[in-house]
Amino acid sequence: MATLPKNIGWIGLGVMGLPMARNLLQKTKNDTHFCVYDVSADSMKQLVDEGQDRVHACSSSKDVADKSDIILSMVPEGSHVRSVYLTESAGVMASDLGSKILIDCSTIDTGTSLDVRSATATQHPKASFYDAPVSGGAIGASKATLTFMLGCSTTDPNLSLLTTLLSYMGSNIFPCGGPSLGLTAKLCNNYCSGLIAIAVSEAMNIGMASGMDPRVLANVFHTSTAQSVICDDWCPVPGICPEAPASKGYQGGFRVQLMKKDFGLAVDTAERVGVKLAMGESGLGVYEGASADQKCKDLDSRVVFRYLGGQEEWRGKFPEEVELKRDETRALLKKAREASK
Ligand code: NAD
Repeated sequence: MATLPKNIGWIGLGVMGLPMARNLLQKTKNDTHFCVYDVSADSMKQLVDEGQDRVHACSSSKDVADKSDIILSMVPEGSHVRSVYLTESAGVMASDLGSKILIDCSTIDTGTSLDVRSATATQHPKASFYDAPVSGGAIGASKATLTFMLGCSTTDPNLSLLTTLLSYMGSNIFPCGGPSLGLTAKLCNNYCSGLIAIAVSEAMNIGMASGMDPRVLANVFHTSTAQSVICDDWCPVPGICPEAPASKGYQGGFRVQLMKKDFGLAVDTAERVGVKLAMGESGLGVYEGASADQKCKDLDSRVVFRYLGGQEEWRGKFPEEVELKRDETRALLKKAREASK
């Protein structure tokens, strides 16, 4: 394990940034101090109060960079990342960085990330900038089980330090090959999972409109070629997975507007690298529509089931004997599979 520097900077303490920074605070020793900045004073206050004398509120991103050896950021979009790093006199670049390490965990376009990297290389040749977006959502952030997709190669000289630092917040860290490829991995993942959520919603709609109990259909998917974590654990149909946002009024989870942003960035990337998409435009249309729809806005992205007109009130429409208990059915299937081995 590499030794971490004693002064850590954090910019952006929202849904993801706050629990991530909190894990670092709780898992590092008392002589490690944190300099934090968020445009929202309330967000900073929470961590400052929790950290007592170890967390210090700063007046700008430059102030954080001045006082820290390693700086992490977690802000919403590319425009915010530009503001954090490139704002004249108040941004990170305005600091005398020396050989400091900068890590941006935001999910943004690769162009902005490469611009910040190139500004770092030009203005502070000894400093290093990395893209390190995450997946795992707010729950993964608070449980420190995030997956980090790191924009560097396996031979990067800072990899050991980066791995030690990020392992306080995540359980999987993948060096993705080089600058901006962490972001590429993240956008490809969200493009794929966004399309699967639409596909599961549409397939469920077909089955339910034809008279099928969605629990039976979910069980069929589980043991057939349509199996996916989206159907198994995050099913867009309410009442299939008790813990999924869909079963809680689509509260929590991954906001549909964030999926629209990431999906759109993936579509832009495909265009830039000359990849033909069969479903990019229509998928993006679904997430744009759901983000603007008052019945779906601000809710978990699996709300596409509602946006596509899915039947949410399906309970009671099926005769008692058809109402299979999903967990019992799965247990029986598991037993049968084991017996046949
Ligand atoms: P958020 O809006 O909850 O938090 C962002 C924070 O950044 C806010 O506290 C905001 O005040 C602060 N901020 C904005 N501009 C700033 C600036 N110029 N200087 C300092 N602070 C600034 O967003 P979030 O959900 O934490 O998401 C952050 C990033 O993580 C996004 O890129 C998102 O796509 C990605 N992400 C989110 C999730 C999720 O489930 N929420 C999951 C994976 C990845």
